Amino acid sequence: MNTTAQTDTALRTRALESLLIEKGLITEDIIDEVVEKYEKDVGPLNGARVVARAWTDPDYKRRLLEDGRAAIAELGFDSAHGAKIVVIENTPDVHHLVVCTLCSCYPWSVLGLPPNWYKSYAYRSRAVREPRAVLLEFDLNLPDTVEIRVWDSNSDLRYMVLPERPAGTEDYTEEQLISLVTRDSMIGVAKIESPSK
Ligand code: FE
Repeated sequence: MNTTAQTDTALRTRALESLLIEKGLITEDIIDEVVEKYEKDVGPLNGARVVARAWTDPDYKRRLLEDGRAAIAELGFDSAHGAKIVVIENTPDVHHLVVCTLCSCYPWSVLGLPPNWYKSYAYRSRAVREPRAVLLEFDLNLPDTVEIRVWDSNSDLRYMVLPERPAGTEDYTEEQLISLVTRDSMIGVAKIESPSK
């Protein structure tokens, strides 16, 4: 997004905010609360908890893959805007990558705010067309034998990747596993490195 577009968006946002406050639909406090919540409280840590639980509890993992939103809600994380969340599992043979080609739809309740690159035109347009090249730019070099599937999030349906549990973590506690899970691995632009490396 260029500077002019950013200024336009900022202006439109402020205009909308003033209008909603003027009409008594929301208060400035509520806006501040929501922004603060997504900036500080909700971050990829929620998603990391979901992933670590799925790695350690096969029943939970089954429920998560069947109905992402419900299984995520079990851990106390509500789906933002009531959107459906579909969780897709990476395996040694299939690697999933998430994008929103239209704008920046993202599973906020588990991953927090999307990174800037996720919202960029370059990522949105190239992830579908040349996912392997895009992953290489994220330093993820997948063998040709690995199939890459790209998932296009939208406002009603948002995707989250369940990354592969790295080797060498068999004895790890759930808390230790949580600390290994990165935001990028849940978008599908990274794998989780084995801690023994
Ligand atoms: Fe979007």
